[in-house]
Amino acid sequence: MAQISFERLKRRLRELARFGALGGGGVTRPAWSPQYEEARAWLVGEIKAAGLDAWVDPAGNVFGATDISAFADDRPAVLTGSHIDTVPEGGTLDGALGVIAGLECLHAIVEQRLPHARPLAVAAWIDEEGRYGSLFGSRAFCGLLDTAKVPELAAVDGERLVDVMTRAGFDPARVGEARVNRAAVSSYVELHIEQGPRLEEAGVPIGVVEAIVGIRRTRLTFVGQADHAGTTPMERRRDGFLAAAEYSIKARDLVVKKSGGRAVTNVGVVRVHPGVSNIVPARGEIIHEMRAPDPGMLERLWKDCRALARRVARRRGVTVDVVPQSATSPAACAPRVQAAVADAARDAGLATTTLYSAAGHDAQNLATMTEAGMLFIPSSGGRSHRIDEWSAPEAIERGANVLLGTLLRLSA
Ligand SMILES: [Zn+2]
Repeated sequence: MAQISFERLKRRLRELARFGALGGGGVTRPAWSPQYEEARAWLVGEIKAAGLDAWVDPAGNVFGATDISAFADDRPAVLTGSHIDTVPEGGTLDGALGVIAGLECLHAIVEQRLPHARPLAVAAWIDEEGRYGSLFGSRAFCGLLDTAKVPELAAVDGERLVDVMTRAGFDPARVGEARVNRAAVSSYVELHIEQGPRLEEAGVPIGVVEAIVGIRRTRLTFVGQADHAGTTPMERRRDGFLAAAEYSIKARDLVVKKSGGRAVTNVGVVRVHPGVSNIVPARGEIIHEMRAPDPGMLERLWKDCRALARRVARRRGVTVDVVPQSATSPAACAPRVQAAVADAARDAGLATTTLYSAAGHDAQNLATMTEAGMLFIPSSGGRSHRIDEWSAPEAIERGANVLLGTLLRLSA
C-alpha cells in the first residue's frame, strides 16, 4: 500500500510553525499579517520543490497541483486542503495539518508515480479563522462571497482588508475572480484535527465526518426600566439584565433537552446598560449562538428559543428585541467521500467512527459546489485554539495515510 513520507510531513509542519511562533509554544498567524505572508511564500516554495504546479488566486488562496496549472472545466480536479492562518495564540495543527498532509499526499503521488485518472490539487484557503469574515478564501472560491462588501471589511483592530491586500501585492477589486466553476472540481476532502474529545475518548483513530454544524447567532436585547437600585421596591423593578440571564439559562436547558445532546449553545457576549452598580439595568443585551448538524433541528431550536425569549420578557414586564446576526446552514458530507475515507481507513487496518463537526470548516463551502467531506484525527484532551493543541505523531501519520488512500480512490 502506498505511504506518505512522515519525516517530510513532520519537517514541513515544524517549518510552518516557525512563522508567527510564540515564545511559549503555539502560533499567532492571522491572515494577511507579515507572518502569514512569509508562510505563504514558504508554502509556494515547498509546493514547487515537490514537483507540483503552484499558483495563488486573486483572493489569496494558494494551490498546488498535479497535471494542471489552473482549474479548468474540462479537467475536474480532486481537491484537498485546509488553512494556514491561525487564531491569536493558536496551535500548530489547526488547518496546518490539512494543508501540509495534502501537500505530502500529492508529493508522494508524483514521486511514486501513483496512478490517478484525475488531476489532484491542494489548497491553503485564506482567512479561515475570519479576521475579515470567516472562511473567506473558500467562500471566494465557491462564489459565496459578497464581493461588493470587500471595501468595507475590517478586522477588530480596524485594519482594512483593502489595505492589507494592497500591501501584500493583491488587487482587492479582483477578489471575485477567485470564483471557480462547479465543473472544475470533482470532489473535496479535508483532513483536520477533531478539536474535541470524542475520538480520543472512544479510542478510535479516524473520524469520518457526516456533517458540519450550521451556526446561528442572534442578538437579544431585553429592555426594562432604569431605576434607583436602592429606593425602588424589588417587586416593581423591570430588570433587563435579569431577563437576559434567565433566558440564557433556560435556552441552554431547552437546546440540550430538545436536541438530545446533538446541538450546542453559548452566550458569549453580555452587555448591561447603563452598567453601573446603583442603577437597575434598563437593558440586557446578549449574543446567543447555537450550532446543530441538522438544518431542521437548527430551525426548530431557533423558533423555540425566540418563543422562550418572549415568554421570559412578558413574565418579567420587559420587552425583547430579537435580531438575527448571522446564519450558516449545516452541510452534509457526500456519501461517496465518506465511503472513500472509510474504505481507505479499513485498508490501513484502522477503525473509524462517524461523527459531525461542531466547528465550521472550509469543507462546508466546498459542499455547496461539489461532493465534499472531511476526516478527523484525535485531538489530545480535545484541546484546540490554544497553544497546547496537540495530536500524537502516530495519529498524524495515520491521518495523512488515510488521506492519501482517500485521494487515490477519489481520483481513480
Ligand atoms: Zn481549522
